[in-house]
Amino acid sequence: MNSELDHGLAGDPLPDSLVTRALLPGRPGYSRYTAGFFRSARPGLVLRPQSPGEVQDAVRYARRHRDVPLGILSGGHGISGRSLNDGGIVIAVDALNEITVLEGNRARLGPGARWGDVAAALAPHGLSLSAGDSGSVGVGGLATAGGIGWLVREHGLTIDHLRSVDVVTADGGLVHASADEHPDLFWAMRGAGANYGIAVSFEFDLDPIGPQVGFAMLVYTPDDIAAFLQAWGTMIENSHPTVTGTLILSPGGQGTSPAQALIVVDADDPDTVMERLQPFAALAPLANQSVQLMPYPALLSQPAEQHGRGEPHGHSGLARHLTPALAEGLAHLLASNSSFFLTVRSAGGAVADTPADATAYAWRKANFLIATLGGGSADFETRWTGLLAHFEGMYLSFETDTGPGVLARAFPPAHLTRLRTLKQAWDPSGLFRDNFFIDPATAAPTHQHNI
Ligand SMILES: Cc1cc2nc3c(=O)[nH]c(=O)nc-3n(C[C@H](O)[C@H](O)[C@H](O)COP(=O)(O)OP(=O)(O)OC[C@H]3O[C@@H](n4cnc5c(N)ncnc54)[C@H](O)[C@@H]3O)c2cc1C
Repeated sequence: MNSELDHGLAGDPLPDSLVTRALLPGRPGYSRYTAGFFRSARPGLVLRPQSPGEVQDAVRYARRHRDVPLGILSGGHGISGRSLNDGGIVIAVDALNEITVLEGNRARLGPGARWGDVAAALAPHGLSLSAGDSGSVGVGGLATAGGIGWLVREHGLTIDHLRSVDVVTADGGLVHASADEHPDLFWAMRGAGANYGIAVSFEFDLDPIGPQVGFAMLVYTPDDIAAFLQAWGTMIENSHPTVTGTLILSPGGQGTSPAQALIVVDADDPDTVMERLQPFAALAPLANQSVQLMPYPALLSQPAEQHGRGEPHGHSGLARHLTPALAEGLAHLLASNSSFFLTVRSAGGAVADTPADATAYAWRKANFLIATLGGGSADFETRWTGLLAHFEGMYLSFETDTGPGVLARAFPPAHLTRLRTLKQAWDPSGLFRDNFFIDPATAAPTHQHNI
C-alpha cells in the first residue's frame, strides 16, 4: 500500500475504491496527466475511477477539498486545457470508455471513449454519430458542449442525438437524465454540461451511413480573401445538406493567404459527390485539389498525443452569415499576422431543426463557427474584440477566455438565467467550477434539487 496516498490530501485518506489507482506527482502513469492538447499541468492528485460508483466516491472526496482546483478529464483534448490543473485534484474518467451498439440504432458511450474509436465501432453496423473532425477528442468533453462535426449540416449537433445521460452530481448522487427524468438537468447537460456534474454514460440515437463518403481537399489562392469568404459562405449555405465544409486559413499578409478547404459529402456514389462538389471548384483559383471516397471513420483517424505546453489563447464566434463586414474583419485579422490559425467551419443545416430553447446550446441559426488561435498578443485580442459585434454567439469548446463576459457570449440571456438557476439547484456550492464557471451565487434564490 502507498503510504502517501493513504494519507490523501491534508491527511484525509482516500477511499479504498480509489487509493490503488490514484496518482501523485512523479508516480508511474502520472505524466499522462501533465499535458492536454494545448496546455501543460501538474495536478496534485489524479483520481482514476473505473466505474460510476467510484466517480461518486471521487466527487465526495473532492467536495471535502474545495480549497484546491478540481478538473474533470475525459479525453484530455479540451482546448481551454482546464480538465487538468496545477496542484489540484483531477478526476479522470478516461477509463470509462464503453462503446456498445444497442438495439434500435442506439449506442451507449462512456465519456472516456474517443470519437475515432466510436466511428470505427459503429461503421460495421452501417451507423454513425456526427461528432467533430478529430478522432482523438473524447466523448465526455464534446458531448456535454455541442459537437459540430463532419455531418453537422445533415444530422445536427452530437447533443441533438442524446437520449439520456447518467450524471454524478455535486452531492455525489448518480442521476439518470432524459426528456422524462430530470428534464432540466438533461437540458443543461446538452451545451453546458461541465457545470452540472460528471457525465459517466451517454445513450445516443445513431444515423445510417454508407460504406464511404466523399472527401475533397481544395487549396484556393484567392486574390481577395474577404470576397472569397463571402462567396464561400453563400456556397455552403446553399449546398445540399449532405455537404459540410471547413476552411483553414493561415496568415499571409495583404489579403493573399491561401485557403485550404476540407469538404465532406455524405454520399457514396461518385457522380453525386462530384456534382455536389463541382460548384466549389469555381469559387477562386485553385493551387491544388483532390477528391476521394473513404470510409467515414477514416476522416477521424488522428494520433491521440497530447503534448501541450504553455497557455492557449483561442476564441470562437458563431455567425449566421459571412457578411461583408465579418469577412473584411477576418481578412484583416489574418493580414495582421496576430492569429496563426483561423478556421471557418460549417454549423447550420440540421442544427436549426431543434428549437433554440430545447437545449443549453442556443445558437441554432448560426451557419458558421469561426475559431482562431493566437499567441495572446494585445493586437490579437483587440482585433478579435473588434469582431464580436458580428457574432450572434460563441461555442465554448473553442474558447479559452474566462470571466462573466464569456458566459454572456456563450448563452443568450434567457438561457443564462435558466442555467444560473439550475446551477444553484444542482451544484449550490459551485464544486464544478474550473471551466466556464456559472456562479450559483448569481442566480435568483431557489431550492436545492432533491434527487
Ligand atoms: C484537435 C481538436 C479538434 C477538435 N475538433 C472539434 C470539432 O470538430 N467539433 C467540436 O465540436 N469540437 C472540436 N474540438 C473541441 C473539443 O470538442 C473540446 O475541446 C472537448 O471539450 C474535448 O473533449 P475531451 O473529453 O477530449 O477533453 P477534456 O480535456 O477531457 O475535457 C474538456 C472539458 O470538458 C468537460 N468535461 C470533460 N469530461 C466531462 C464529463 N465526463 N462530464 C462533464 N464535463 C466533462 C470539462 O469541463 C473539461 O475541462 C476539437 C478539439 C481539438 C483539440
